[in-house]
Amino acid sequence: APAPPGKPFQVKLVLLGEAAVGKSSLVLRFVNNEYQDNKEPTIGAAFLTQKCRLDDKVVKFEIWDTAGQERFHSLAPMYYRNAQAAVVVYDVTKAPSLDRAKSWVKELHRQANPNIVIALVGNKLDLVVSSGVPRAVDAEEARVYAEEMGLLWFETSAKTGEGVSEVFTEIAKKIPFDL
Ligand code: GDP
Repeated sequence: APAPPGKPFQVKLVLLGEAAVGKSSLVLRFVNNEYQDNKEPTIGAAFLTQKCRLDDKVVKFEIWDTAGQERFHSLAPMYYRNAQAAVVVYDVTKAPSLDRAKSWVKELHRQANPNIVIALVGNKLDLVVSSGVPRAVDAEEARVYAEEMGLLWFETSAKTGEGVSEVFTEIAKKIPFDL
């Protein structure tokens, strides 16, 4: 339902992806504009909120950052079941992390709300751009896969901040707030 005047539109958003791809770091960058090397892994799930302005609306993201460890997999449906948006993260320097991201996308298509807005995000772009680490996931291939699956697609660096706010603003633009 449309939010009353002055009230933010709420978006329940879940982050999914293999451990250590940078899910928590992306959230920390978006919410606090910070970055920490050697972040402690998330246990279970963490909850944060962040407001952003989109045209004439204020959108409040309610963000569930889930642990990537397989032993937490059975908990994931609790977080994505009522989500309006999902950010599925892989690491552009780790090919298996894209396979894991693809299996999350399949699971979301089977089990999540059919209107869910999904963004596929290749993180750690800085490693390829300025640290000489070889790219393991071809950008064009990931982009084409995302297009075929109806996903938004971005490459980001939580470390430099590149591309991070776009993920959230582009998601907000695709949420059907008037449903
Ligand atoms: P999560 O398990 O997916 O939540 O991953 P974390 O956010 O805990 O990040 C795992 C590790 O990767 C940490 O040491 C981070 O500092 C590092 N990391 C996260 N994002 C980036 C990034 O964009 N670039 C680089 N170079 N390292 C990153």
